[in-house]
Amino acid sequence: MDDCVFCKIAAGKIPSYIIHEDDEFMVILDRFPAAEGHTLVIVKRHAENIYEIKKDEGRRLFELVSATAGAIKTALKPDGLNVISNNGKAAGQSVGHFHIHLIPRREGDGVTVAFPQNDPPADAFINMVSVLREAFDK
Ligand code: ZN
Repeated sequence: MDDCVFCKIAAGKIPSYIIHEDDEFMVILDRFPAAEGHTLVIVKRHAENIYEIKKDEGRRLFELVSATAGAIKTALKPDGLNVISNNGKAAGQSVGHFHIHLIPRREGDGVTVAFPQNDPPADAFINMVSVLREAFDK
């Protein structure tokens, strides 16, 4: 992927602030942080989004996300932490290479991670559970 910024970072062609690196993943500081200590966990190979993450890879990835969260907690002692992955343009994905944001939060920091809280009727929940359960087994 010649035009992919994260592929270039993974290949060392673009410098980054590397916290951790292994054969599969990198943990780097976000170049445009929403808050101090805003960190990204990226998959080194070009996987566009979460749908392209393999099951065993995802297991190791989440272990690393968890370890990164622990390091942030120990080092920065934030009041909270957002763990976010945007998948697809409609979800706000700006780089088409899968990554997970870890954003340390402070009370009153003004960072917004907002989504509405709707209140659908019970039959909508029942229908949605049915639709997703069926897809889950496939
Ligand atoms: Zn890439």
